Amino acid sequence: MSEELDRAVPAGGGSVTVVSGPTAVGKGTVCARLRELRPDVWVSVSATTRPPRPGEVDGVHYRFVDDAEFDRLVETDQMLEWAVVHRKARYGTPRGPVADAVRQGRHVILEIDLQGARQVARTWPDATLVFLMPPSWEEMVRRLVGRGTESAEERERRLETARTEMLALDEFDHVVVNAEVGQAVDDLVELLGLPPLPDPQGPPD
Ligand code: 5GP
Repeated sequence: MSEELDRAVPAGGGSVTVVSGPTAVGKGTVCARLRELRPDVWVSVSATTRPPRPGEVDGVHYRFVDDAEFDRLVETDQMLEWAVVHRKARYGTPRGPVADAVRQGRHVILEIDLQGARQVARTWPDATLVFLMPPSWEEMVRRLVGRGTESAEERERRLETARTEMLALDEFDHVVVNAEVGQAVDDLVELLGLPPLPDPQGPPD
């Protein structure tokens, strides 16, 4: 094993699954629901240089850092992967917590963009790559407009990125269509090889 891989892949029984896909496909919602329902799954918290949105909590949704701190994390080789996303801010996965979780035998989810997914595919070859796909282009645009967190200019930028990202489908191990969050979570659970989620209605009388 190369020195790089040796450093990247710690011994342990856990697994790494990358969930990627175009903007506004619902990666965040699907991964948040998965985290809520499955304590055996650990969703990595990325570092980013973008400012928090209302309601976002440092250390929970992201680790919000300035440019100098992001530089330091990269220079000291603490990033498993990182990328400039939407030509705007830098986002990256801190390596240490992922390695620790894998060592503890947990199922780690990285919710990252396509550039990051490609880096992980190279440095963590055991990772499973899942492409989360919108049911249609129109639905994806509708979700992006509906969530109302981006300006019109920012939306255009994200849609431009999404157009290219949709072409990367073939690079992934699996495709999950996010028509309905519950179903997408069930599909991910199946891919991860976890036992099925308990029925929220409970067993029939
Ligand atoms: P947002 O700013 O809407 O939270 O995220 C923008 C994009 O950044 C999303 O496509 C998300 O998947 C991506 N992203 C979030 N964290 C990371 C990360 O750690 N690495 C990479 N490469 N992309 C990330």
